[in-house]
Amino acid sequence: MVISHDETPDLRGLPRAGVERLVAALGEKPYRARQLFRWLHRAGAATLGEMTDVPRALRDALAREVRLTTLERANEQRSTDGTVKWTWRTRDGKLVESVYMPEADRRTLCVSTQVGCAVGCTFCLTGTMGLARNLEPGEIVDQIHRANRRLVELGVAEGPRPLTNLVFMGMGEPLANYRSLKVALDLLLSEDGPQFSHRHVTVSTSGLVPMIRRLGEETPVKLAVSLNATTDAQRDALMPINRRWPLAELLAACREFPVRNGRRITFEYVLLGGVNDSLEDARRLASLLRGLPAKVNLIPYNANPGLPFEAPPASRVVAFQEELAARHLTVVVRKNRGRDISAACGQLAAEGGPGDPRRQPVSAE
Ligand code: SAH
Ligand code: SF4
Repeated sequence: MVISHDETPDLRGLPRAGVERLVAALGEKPYRARQLFRWLHRAGAATLGEMTDVPRALRDALAREVRLTTLERANEQRSTDGTVKWTWRTRDGKLVESVYMPEADRRTLCVSTQVGCAVGCTFCLTGTMGLARNLEPGEIVDQIHRANRRLVELGVAEGPRPLTNLVFMGMGEPLANYRSLKVALDLLLSEDGPQFSHRHVTVSTSGLVPMIRRLGEETPVKLAVSLNATTDAQRDALMPINRRWPLAELLAACREFPVRNGRRITFEYVLLGGVNDSLEDARRLASLLRGLPAKVNLIPYNANPGLPFEAPPASRVVAFQEELAARHLTVVVRKNRGRDISAACGQLAAEGGPGDPRRQPVSAE
């Protein structure tokens, strides 16, 4: 293979066709591509050395042509509720997090797509970091491979691939890193990979309207939208992205989003005490979503040090929920998982890493 750019390609992040081209360029038989791909994405091999039935000569040739992303586990925190938060270190020393959430009928990983986030929502800890860089496809998918392997190692879940569901709700705005996200989704849904069902994969966005359209056209996965407000004035103040793509445009893109077989769009709504949690907000939310195949996920605010918000009282959460239910909306209150280990929504900021506001000094890079 001719490598014209200075960057050595990452074997972990190559699309299937790329692996096939690489194998062909090395003069190998086509079936080697499938073998390699399965080692990378089904077995989650950490090294070329693990690929014992791949001939030594081919492994050596690969080692000369490509690199292989395998995230290093920098930290692991286990919550009393079974949630596990991992901090991974990339090869350039950046820290990103994934959160494992076991439930009776599913084992979900919350996956990061960027180091930090440029969207800058005022209530989100990741948002206070600024964006350091996008994650590469290999760095996105390897979170799943390392988590699967570690879960088997810990004996907390059955192998070889314990994870059943993925939510792209970790650090970063997935649709601001669309190219890498798309490659990663293809790898994760591949039948020679970990074989996630598209019904079990959800991408969450703060509302990048053009990319919502592309996601709908180019992938079969589910959509979640972080709505968080019911008027443009309110949403402008909480989520700067609303100034670029206001509510009407966002909801129009949602109406056009292909929803197959009765599947619905999840609208996430962070309840900020005294800010967006009134019954009037609930009524406005119901009317905004009228006619949409929607379900609402209420997320009581998880307090973050230094951010000027507070959680609503429990009674307010219930009242808000009931107001929506009375208007025939499906609504659930998201459980606060892993709060004792700062693994809950909006609390991901790679503790101790660059940009962690809990660490001095605060820096965006
Ligand atoms: N950037 C994407 C994906 C991250 S998901 C997005 O915003 O959709 C992170 C989710 O957690 C979003 O729904 C966001 O609104 C929510 N969130 C952020 N900070 C929070 C906090 N402090 N408490 C509760 N939820 C929060
Ligand atoms: Fe970024 Fe999502 Fe946090 Fe907003 S809520 S700052 S889009 S990660």
